[in-house]
Amino acid sequence: MRVAVLSGGVGGARFVQGLVEVVEPRNVTVIGNVGDDVEVLGLHVSPDLDSILYALAGLNDEERGWGRAGETWRALESAGDFGGETWFQLGDLDLGLHLVRTQALRAGAPLSTVTTGLARALGIKTHVLPATDDRLRTWIETPAGEFPFQEWFVARGHRDEVDAVRFEGEATAAPGVLDALAEAELLLVAPSNPYVSIGPILAVDTIREALATRRVPAVAVSPLIGGRAVRGPADRMLQRLAGGTSPAQVAARYPGLIDALVVDEADADDLDGLGDVRPIVTRTLMADAEARKRLAEAAVGAVVA
Ligand code: GDP
Ligand code: CA
Repeated sequence: MRVAVLSGGVGGARFVQGLVEVVEPRNVTVIGNVGDDVEVLGLHVSPDLDSILYALAGLNDEERGWGRAGETWRALESAGDFGGETWFQLGDLDLGLHLVRTQALRAGAPLSTVTTGLARALGIKTHVLPATDDRLRTWIETPAGEFPFQEWFVARGHRDEVDAVRFEGEATAAPGVLDALAEAELLLVAPSNPYVSIGPILAVDTIREALATRRVPAVAVSPLIGGRAVRGPADRMLQRLAGGTSPAQVAARYPGLIDALVVDEADADDLDGLGDVRPIVTRTLMADAEARKRLAEAAVGAVVA
C-alpha cells in the first residue's frame, strides 16, 4: 500500500517512525512543514524536516524530543563568545547538516532536492519532501504583536496567546508532492499541531485541493490526549481559536479533508459533533517503538475496517 502523510516535527516524526514499521518504507512519502524554517547564523534550518530525517535514521534524541542523540554544543558556545546569536539551539552534529543544506541551497538547488540528498546520505528509504520549495513562513499574531514563528516559539517560549496564524509567501507544491498524494491509497495527517505544523502544509492550495478531492480515505491522528497536548501549545491554541479541545474541535481544523480521526481512549467520552468524521479510539501515547507502531496500525487499519 502507498501512503502519503502530512507531518510537522516531533509528533509527526514519532508517528512516521511507527508508520514505516507497518508500511514498506519506500511506499511512504512524508510531506513536511517548512513554515518553521529559519535562518540562524547564516544557515538555513528546517526544524521539522530535520526531526523527520533524524527520527527515520534513528539519530534523534528521544529524551529531549528534538535534535540528535549524543549532541554537543561547542560551536554555539563559541558563536556566543563572539557575540553571535544563541537563542536558537544548534548542536555541533546538527550544524553539519545545516552547513551542507545551506551550501546546496546557495548553489541553487531546490529544498526538495537537497532534502532527498540528505535522506539518501542517511540511508533513509522513505521519501521525505518539503511541502514546497518556495519561501513559506508562519507568522503568529499575539496580544504583544506579530512574530515570526521561531521568535514566538523559541525566543519567547510560546508564552504569548495566539490570536491568529498567518502564512507569508505564495507557495506551490514541491516536485513529487502532488504525485505522491495522487498515487497514495491512504492519506494520513500525523498527530502534529493542526495550526502551525499542518496548517502551513494545507496553505499550499494544490495540497489542500488534493485532500479535498481525494478518492482514497484520509485519516488524521489527534495530537491531544484527554484534551491536552502531549507537549507544546496545540491545546492552548485550540482552546483560544476554536473554543475547545474536543475531538470535534480537532477534526474541524480539517474540514472536508478527513474521513476518520484517531483519538485517544481518554477522549472517548467526548465524541459529539464529529459529523461525517469517524472516530477511531485507541491509545495514542507514542511512549516507545511498540506504542508508535500500534498507533500507526490503528491509523492504517482504519481503512480496512
Ligand atoms: P513540532 O513541529 O516539533 O512542534 O511537532 P509536531 O507539530 O509534529 O508535533 C507536536 C504535537 O505532537 C503536539 O501537539 C503534541 O501533543 C503531539 N504529540 C507528541 N507526542 C505525542 C504522542 O505520543 N501522542 C499523541 N497523540 N500526540 C503527540
Ligand atoms: Ca514545527
